[in-house]
Amino acid sequence: PPDVNELGKSTWNFLHSMTAQYPKEPSPVQKTEMSNFLHLFSRVYPCNWCAKDFEKYLKENAPKVNSREELGRWMCEAHNSVNVKLRKEKFNCDFWEKRWREGWEE
Ligand code: FAD
Repeated sequence: PPDVNELGKSTWNFLHSMTAQYPKEPSPVQKTEMSNFLHLFSRVYPCNWCAKDFEKYLKENAPKVNSREELGRWMCEAHNSVNVKLRKEKFNCDFWEKRWREGWEE
């Protein structure tokens, strides 16, 4: 099975980068596609317990797909819920776009 940490790091990179390129004013089709994608993603993510918890998170916190800003923050908060579960530091979501659109190296 994949290394859960490596998989997680690269997947968050993908997910946050995806939100950073999401339209500021998405069309109805783009909103539906993003929402569908996130639900399907939670069904196929190749770490079972991660996927189960993410699916539960999605049920309790419907993805906010009305704009880039909304989706970026939603994803940041979803990532923070995993950070809390893993007892990692929470990320300040005011900086999500700086981190993932403008980019900084760690
Ligand atoms: P990561 O958490 O991978 O973060 C990568 C970078 O993202 C950080 O260095 C930071 O710059 C930035 N970042 C951190 N927090 C945020 C935020 N809130 N918003 C925006 N940017 C941020 N691992 C488990 O052991 N158990 C699980 O149940 C589990 N569930 C997961 C569910 C999903 C959907 C995903 C994608 C991953 C999951 N993981 C899980 C993996 C876990 O979240 C981490 O990816 C892994 O522990 C490696 O952590 P890391 O310290 O390298 O940084």
